[in-house]
Amino acid sequence: MKQLSGKGVSDGVAVGPLYFYRRGNGEIERREVADTAAENARFETARQTAIEQLGALYEKALAEVGEESAMLFEAHQMMLEDLDYVESIQGMIEGGLNAEAAVSDTAAMFADMFAAMDDAYIQARAADVRDISTRVIGILSGAVAGGVDSDVPVILAADDLAPSETVQLDKSKILGFVTRGGSGNSHTAILARTMGIPAICGVGNVLTENYEGQLAMIDGQTGEVVFDADEPTRERLLKKQAKERALKDMLEKLRGQPNVTLDGRNVMVYCNIGNPGDLDAVLQNGGGGIGLFRSEFLYLQGSDYLTEDEQFEAYKTVAERMGGKRVIIRTLDIGADKQADYFNLAHEENPAMGLRAIRICLTRPEVFRTQLRALYRASAYGKIAIMFPMITSVWEVQEIKRICSNIRSELANEGVPMADYVELGIMIETPAAVMMSDQLAKEVDFFSVGTNDLTQYTLAVDRQGQNLDKFFDAHHLAVLRMIKMAADNAHAAGIWIGICGELGADAELTETFLSMGIDELSVSPSAVLPLRNTIRSIDTSTCSDRLLRDL
Ligand code: PEP
Ligand code: MG
Repeated sequence: MKQLSGKGVSDGVAVGPLYFYRRGNGEIERREVADTAAENARFETARQTAIEQLGALYEKALAEVGEESAMLFEAHQMMLEDLDYVESIQGMIEGGLNAEAAVSDTAAMFADMFAAMDDAYIQARAADVRDISTRVIGILSGAVAGGVDSDVPVILAADDLAPSETVQLDKSKILGFVTRGGSGNSHTAILARTMGIPAICGVGNVLTENYEGQLAMIDGQTGEVVFDADEPTRERLLKKQAKERALKDMLEKLRGQPNVTLDGRNVMVYCNIGNPGDLDAVLQNGGGGIGLFRSEFLYLQGSDYLTEDEQFEAYKTVAERMGGKRVIIRTLDIGADKQADYFNLAHEENPAMGLRAIRICLTRPEVFRTQLRALYRASAYGKIAIMFPMITSVWEVQEIKRICSNIRSELANEGVPMADYVELGIMIETPAAVMMSDQLAKEVDFFSVGTNDLTQYTLAVDRQGQNLDKFFDAHHLAVLRMIKMAADNAHAAGIWIGICGELGADAELTETFLSMGIDELSVSPSAVLPLRNTIRSIDTSTCSDRLLRDL
């Protein structure tokens, strides 16, 4: 038996073969080939595989985000059939160049040609031709689209996974995650919890590729990773897995029950999602609404800016499927660890404090406008609320409200249907927002506390930092006092306040939050029923004074 250990960041026991994430290294191999017919056949096979992959992506997008977004994949399929493109590659191969280099050179030639055109539509095709070519080169060089090429579900191992890589994984293939690095507060860990998949990070370099293919047992609560388990260990972990399943079955009985405390207080229990594909889990677990739709994950899934229509389809799908329940969509919170190449964000020494989130939206008005137009258009199809991240100042909110009001007027003039009223809220995730919360509360309809960033900025601890977990103490009195201050100021101004950071699901603090008067808790879908169970066991009339004494 071989035992490794890391930090458990998403609960649950998983058993399955270990599989290392396949990532292309970005370098294009360039060599001379003698057998050009064989090389052309190799290119043709890769081209056909790419066309098939795009067909599957089309179906997936059609089901999750609607036809307009899905059409992009259809257009990419057509580009791979384009005779000029295909013949250029074949010609280079016949001249003795290997297929990877021929595809890469043709892509560069076509992209430059498109980019030089006057027509903005054709210019935008440069990104498409690069995208399809990257796919074909990836297939030729053995890198795997989506990182996993396995017929059976696996425990996925990696150095670390970027949020953009995690969102593109085929969830049906993943039993668990184990990474050498990473932190429990990173977006990858958050995504694992949203998917309800056991995960362990920080195992270190002892997690070598020699374990590839070996049967692993992992415990996402304790951080254990076991290979070739001896009988007692195997039995212990399987027993724990069975117990988890029994607990899940027990919690099923709470489906459809209210989130009400023993003293009769109703609490809104909402869900955090990253894309419309997470809605099945929300509906299955009885989420009362969406408390945080991290819209940036839609941007991380693609290779170019999303159009207004693509976003509209995604937001409309979520609003409709939630059937009139509140859906809080957070505007683009890109930057720091959430990077999309096409944003071309400059390298920053301190990206968590840099040009991110609302700062990008206020400096790139076109990006913001496109998203807000899509959101207001989608508001006609359900109960959409809009939330803004990383707020520090009252002027930011006033400027945002001015932009929103202009967009509403613009859409009204175009005769576009919209909801009569769309709630606007802000994330309380910087100490400045807490300290200004009395004034900010007068500007908006609700607050939602982002405890992940609030902890990072209050304690001056990088949430991504690998060896900092000991210092990233979200239970720190400083953080709890901040939340209490924001709650008091929200209620004094007559608005409601929720928590959408990871602390919202922390059962050790539920009593404290309810004692503060927190109105809503937004958690990953799999945490809804456990949280409901906790809420139903609390009597705030007897615990409040004791819990609030130090705050
Ligand atoms: C937070 O900071 O707590 C939050 C909910 O937002 P994110 O984790 O996406 O930064
Ligand atoms: Mg945040």
